[in-house]
Amino acid sequence: MSQSTLHEAEYYEILDQEDLSIQCHLCPFDCIIKQGEIGKCLARKNVDGKLCSLTYGFVDMKIDMIEKQNVYHFFPNSRTQTFATYNCNLDCDYCSMPEKAHLDPETFTGKKFAPDQAIMFGMASGSKIISFGEAEPFISFEWVRDTAKLAKERGLKVLLRTNGFFHEQPVREMLEYVDAVTLDIKRVTDEGYEQSCRGGSLEHIKKIIKIIFDSGKLLELHLVIHEGLNNDAEAAGILAEWINGELSAEVPLHLSRLIPSYRTKDYIPTSKELLVSSYLAAKENGLQYVYIDGIPDHETLNTYCPNCNELLIQRNSYLTEVRRISLQGNCNKCQTKINVILS
Ligand code: SF4
Repeated sequence: MSQSTLHEAEYYEILDQEDLSIQCHLCPFDCIIKQGEIGKCLARKNVDGKLCSLTYGFVDMKIDMIEKQNVYHFFPNSRTQTFATYNCNLDCDYCSMPEKAHLDPETFTGKKFAPDQAIMFGMASGSKIISFGEAEPFISFEWVRDTAKLAKERGLKVLLRTNGFFHEQPVREMLEYVDAVTLDIKRVTDEGYEQSCRGGSLEHIKKIIKIIFDSGKLLELHLVIHEGLNNDAEAAGILAEWINGELSAEVPLHLSRLIPSYRTKDYIPTSKELLVSSYLAAKENGLQYVYIDGIPDHETLNTYCPNCNELLIQRNSYLTEVRRISLQGNCNKCQTKINVILS
């Protein structure tokens, strides 16, 4: 990669003017990076004492239904232009795309897109929603921020999917340009993060979740359920209790099946029984909107009114029908306000 095409990154400090070592402060790994070396995510490099984003503009584009981003309360049944970014700061055992998450950027052969090119592409697709997902959009912080900012200027809605293991300041900056966030919780203890993701901290991520929630942006949370991760019914119950107590019973929680991949190739996919018992544990802890993703056509894909139990949004795998709910988000039967954005 030619050094002239590298984009200077933000959120770093120079540690030593003589040996040109620097420290990245985008995420809590706070990598100290010597001249010519790269950080843990492989995406940020010290070039002559300057931190450079190696993945600025590396993106795959596709049109998806928004439900594919594990978000059910943000413009349900809409198409979204998805920008799939590269590289991640975590290294999770059950990662579904390790080649993209741990790419050596020097080997990237795709086309790079400037933010305005990406937005032009997005607008040409006719979609009013831009989504940033896969592998971890925050790793390409500068590109995602610049593109999201442009999207907002053009009147588009913006969804961001993240693991949440980033410092507060860049998260606050990014929140200025997004309308909704879906956040993947990996394990329900710090030890679990260390074991399954080679780092990360639920305690830190909870602080970030709180910041997102307090910003008033739509927030949905997601947890993969599997015995081998200790993400079981008890874990789902503990997480739901925290969400209900510290955030709100209205925050949607998605529970999904583990699909064996990467270092969990030998695992058996999560049983329906465990998913259902985890769902019940989350509901018993007061959450109003809990979903099981991964049991086709199961009633737990639907959104019901928490007051009168009216079926509001029906989902059948990835087919969604918005039924008895007003554009303002009120249940047609009892008028209860639902935590959903429809217009
Ligand atoms: S974003 Fe990458 S380089 Fe920066 S601290 Fe995190 S892992 Fe290290």
